[in-house]
Amino acid sequence: MPSNDVIPGGGKPPPDWILELTEQLPGVIFQLHRDPDGRMHFPYLAGSGAQLTGIDRRDLAQSALPALERLAEDDHPRVMAAIERSARWQRPITTKFRLRMADDRLSWIALRAQPRKVETGVLWYGLMIDISEQMVEEERLRRLSDTDDLTGLANRRKLMQRLEEEISLSNRHALPLSLMMLDLDHFKSINDTWGHLRGDQVLTELATLCREVLREEDLVARLGGEEFALLLPLPPETHCRQLAERLRERIAAHDFGIGQGRITVSIGVAEHRIGDSCETLIRRADESLYAAKHGGRNQVMTGA
Ligand code: GH3
Ligand code: MG
Ligand code: MG
Repeated sequence: MPSNDVIPGGGKPPPDWILELTEQLPGVIFQLHRDPDGRMHFPYLAGSGAQLTGIDRRDLAQSALPALERLAEDDHPRVMAAIERSARWQRPITTKFRLRMADDRLSWIALRAQPRKVETGVLWYGLMIDISEQMVEEERLRRLSDTDDLTGLANRRKLMQRLEEEISLSNRHALPLSLMMLDLDHFKSINDTWGHLRGDQVLTELATLCREVLREEDLVARLGGEEFALLLPLPPETHCRQLAERLRERIAAHDFGIGQGRITVSIGVAEHRIGDSCETLIRRADESLYAAKHGGRNQVMTGA
């Protein structure tokens, strides 16, 4: 039985049909109480989701700790901060977190709760609902919108987003950051000679080669057409240049199915300078690429 010691107008038990209705709800409705010392408990907890954690409601009616201990480690501070803010400013809590269920699975839970000051502390009226399926779908859509269809690499949108983040870090902490622009040489004639489908295969294989050369924290993106960008946080410029050379040589030596040495790339490298914006860094990498093309292609150029 749910404990309902703080239900306003309490004393009179709710009619059976209300009890049955609340127990059938596909989620959890609750009251959460916090006393001035910060101790919390759930005076009321109902709904079909209430059993899923495997924690006895009578225990939760004494202390919220067994539920809080089930929060995913990464989410714990955020949830506690949301509760604190809500109590202090008397604003609703709107948050989501991962909670370990009785079967050891982590479920995503959305929580909405309205606080109310009571004599004994703060009392929230709220609901929780399992949103794991929506989160999986959200993740799928997010990945889709960040990915280039043909190569599976990050797309321009994703590159711009990461570039903004990395540049802001570099500007704040003076961390090294380099951007490489890579463009296939005379790709139009490859398409003209071998057909567009073969051209597509070259682009896909090239993406694999790029990925193999890079580390986990680096980002390779296809900007569109036969142009790629590689973002390398933390490499000193010499290292970046060596990496670009290695990649260029690897591509030139690779047989893309049309005979070795037919595919080459030009690469422009620019190192981030404090105060650079996205546009400035891209422009300088583009200028290096342009210089590599004019220098005869199949080469790496670094910014002045
Ligand atoms: P450059 O060395 O100056 O870069 O010469 P290029 O021929 O590579 O450059 P240009 O910009 O003239 O042509 C780019 C070509 O890339 C045009 C197009 O046929 C080809 N291309 C662009 N996107 C795709 C694609 O998705 N698939 C294939 N197969 N080809 C593409
Ligand atoms: Mg080209
Ligand atoms: Mg191009």
